Amino acid sequence: MTQVYLKKKISRRIENGHPWVFANEVDKTVGPLSGGDIVELLTHDGKFIGRGYANPKSLIFVRLLTRNKGEIINEDFFFNKINTAWKYRQQLGYTENCRLVFGEADFLPALIIDKFNDYFVLQTLALGMDIWKPAIVKALQAIFKPKGIYERNDVPVRELEGLPQIKGFLSEPFDTQILIHENGLKFIVDVENGQKTGYFLDQQDNRRAIQHIVKGGDVLGAFTYTGTFEIHAAHYGAKSVLGLDISATAVEQANKNAALNGLSDKCVFQAVNAFDVLKLWSKEGRQYDVVMLDPPAFTKSRENIQKAITGYKEINLRGMKLIKPGGFLVTTSCTNLVQPELFLEIIEMAAKDAKRTLRQVVFQTQASDHPIIWGQENTHYLKFLIVQVL
Ligand code: SAH
Repeated sequence: MTQVYLKKKISRRIENGHPWVFANEVDKTVGPLSGGDIVELLTHDGKFIGRGYANPKSLIFVRLLTRNKGEIINEDFFFNKINTAWKYRQQLGYTENCRLVFGEADFLPALIIDKFNDYFVLQTLALGMDIWKPAIVKALQAIFKPKGIYERNDVPVRELEGLPQIKGFLSEPFDTQILIHENGLKFIVDVENGQKTGYFLDQQDNRRAIQHIVKGGDVLGAFTYTGTFEIHAAHYGAKSVLGLDISATAVEQANKNAALNGLSDKCVFQAVNAFDVLKLWSKEGRQYDVVMLDPPAFTKSRENIQKAITGYKEINLRGMKLIKPGGFLVTTSCTNLVQPELFLEIIEMAAKDAKRTLRQVVFQTQASDHPIIWGQENTHYLKFLIVQVL
């Protein structure tokens, strides 16, 4: 097996458990190497660190799959890892839907698998993982006997690895509108054309967290997508619910989901730019009991972090202005680079500008099927905050 030697002086990241080796940390490669090959990673003085896949064309040269010298990377390896990930989800109480594999947090770098009932959606975001797609599909078939598997590899990040953007069936074709249940409600997941893998499983616990504060209230939800938070609000007893999304397809799906749950009379969805209407409506003096904000990630690069901060401050300021004294703001951020402390600081800045006092109700993160590995900051990405706005 080809060997990759690290330079003598590299950051302690790899030693501390992080699976990535950047190209500038590599001293030399001994043996032939084509993109995606499994290699052995060694310290500068030849001590075994682990095995992983390499891509000489990527900034991330090696991603480690194991640190166990006795562990061989083959089909069984993927079966065992996926089976372990499923056992862990079951241990946490997941049955029907979950993120089955969350990449690095399940020690399968660049692999995402979402389970929606009897269907699976996967993403292989690096060349070295993409090569193992047949083994991954075989493992899913052996463990779950699924009704269908779909690949959502239509994501730009694959191009950094020299991979094309593609999507399609990895099983016999099936109806890609899948019915799932969450917190006693029904939702349709469009695994073919929906955003990301079709549904945001990471907010499933957070959707439950609004249960008490929405009762009897007028609720405004911006960035609604398929209406999940808003339909929960109606189900939990809100008087009226208005959901906003810039995508007309999302609004159509949200309406379908409301109907599916018999909540169409309470839920209205509008296809508008939330930034524009939040600004306009706060100027007009509209008031709600609860405002919910769940925007998409504002940046993936450090250069644009200031833009993301400004964006979060802006919508949260607008949101707060729309809240009656004593009402609640439900606000989230999935921007990886905005760490929890920074997110709270941004909300505090918005409150100062809005001249409002905040009383914290909950501050939590992604659901536990998206595990957070301590020491790997990028696995801790979701911030979810409920505050009373006085
Ligand atoms: N709350 C949803 C997830 C929201 S994802 C859930 O729990 O499932 C973010 C959504 O914001 C996407 O549906 C996207 O279409 C929408 N969006 C992006 N920019 C927008 C804008 N300027 N105005 C309104 N919606 C926007």
